[in-house]
Amino acid sequence: MALSMDCIFCKIIDGTIPSKKVFENERCVAFYDTTPQAPVHVLIVPKEHIESMNCVNEENAGVITEMLLILRRIAADLCIAEQGYRIINNCGDHGGQTVKHLHFHLLGGAALPVMLA
Ligand code: AMP
Ligand code: ZN
Repeated sequence: MALSMDCIFCKIIDGTIPSKKVFENERCVAFYDTTPQAPVHVLIVPKEHIESMNCVNEENAGVITEMLLILRRIAADLCIAEQGYRIINNCGDHGGQTVKHLHFHLLGGAALPVMLA
């Protein structure tokens, strides 16, 4: 699995940086965001270092489906599915992406403001 040495999420994946994990399999990991923007704020991350949505292609796109299925399962497990939640992907500088390793934010547990990144 390709990891990037100077990437925070790759360091979480290889265990160098601790995280509060809620899910892990061979291809993906999910953990709580350290600066939560909602009562529930979980990040779903592929273990492969894919920089952003701009780097998703025919070869690696399967992991996107898997990330979304994992997200849906976590939403159910954390009891936010019924009342609803928001999925966010920030891509690139204009999108507000601060960690250059593809991830989905899962936000819920309360009614969310219209704008939230
Ligand atoms: P983005 O701005 O979309 O790139 O999201 C990056 C997210 O990663 C932000 O919400 C940060 O709070 C979160 N974050 C940064 N470092 C860590 C970390 N060590 N553990 C968990 N979440 C982190
Ligand atoms: Zn990475």
